[in-house]
Amino acid sequence: MTRALFRQALDDLATKGATVNLWLRDDDAVIPTPALATLLDLTEPQGVPLTLAVIPEETDHALAEHLARRDRVSVAVHGWSHRSYSQPPAKKQELGLDRPSEIVLAELAQGLHKLSVLYGEQLLPMLVPPWNRIAPQLVEQLAGLGFECLSVFGREKPAPLLPLINTHIDVMDWRGTRGGRPSDELFGDLAAIINDGQRPAAIGILTHHLVHDAQAWAFLGELIAEASGHPACRWVSARDVIANA
Ligand SMILES: [Zn+2]
Repeated sequence: MTRALFRQALDDLATKGATVNLWLRDDDAVIPTPALATLLDLTEPQGVPLTLAVIPEETDHALAEHLARRDRVSVAVHGWSHRSYSQPPAKKQELGLDRPSEIVLAELAQGLHKLSVLYGEQLLPMLVPPWNRIAPQLVEQLAGLGFECLSVFGREKPAPLLPLINTHIDVMDWRGTRGGRPSDELFGDLAAIINDGQRPAAIGILTHHLVHDAQAWAFLGELIAEASGHPACRWVSARDVIANA
C-alpha cells in the first residue's frame, strides 16, 4: 500500500522537524463548468491554494466573475490559444519556433494583458506553456514581456532563465487509459520525491479538471485528506513559492 509509504515519508520528516511543501496547478480553464465546481469544492473547504492556468484567447468575464473573491485561487497564463503549430510527428507545441518568434511573443503579451485586466491582483505573472513545452529562445524574452516565472513539468533545471516553479506529479495517464493514474502509483511517486535529498522547494501536483474521471478525483481527494491533516505537510500557493525563492 503505497499510500502508507507516503504517510511514512511524512512521518519521517515530522520526526526530524522538517516539512514538505505541496502546490496545486490545474490547467485549461476557459469558462465555469461543473468540473471546475468539483475542483473548487474539493480544494476550498480544506484551504488548499489553487493556481488555475487559464487559456486567454476565448476566456472572458464569466470565469473571472466566478473566481473573484476566492482568495485561495490564483490565475496563470496558459499560452494564448492552446493550438499546436508543430508538424507531426513532432510533439504538440504552441510556443515553439514553428512561427516567427515575434508573433508568438506578441500573443503571449496579449494573453498576459488580457488576464491582467480580467483578474487584477488575482493574476500571477506566471507562464504555463501548453503541453509544458516552450522553446528556450522564447524563454529568454519572457521577462521583457512582464512574466516573472515559468511553470512546466519535471525537475527544475539549475540556473533557469526565469524562476521555475514546476509540477512533478501528473495525476493523468495521457498515453494509456487517458484517465486518472492509480492512487498507489501516485502516492509511491510522491514518497520517492519526498525521500529524495534533492527535493524541490515545493512539489507540484498537476491536474486537468475538464478530463478527470472518478479515479483522478478520488486521488485528489485522498491526497488532500492525507496531506492537509499532517504536521509535516503544507499546501502553499505559487505566490508563496515565488516570494520565498
Ligand atoms: Zn493545457
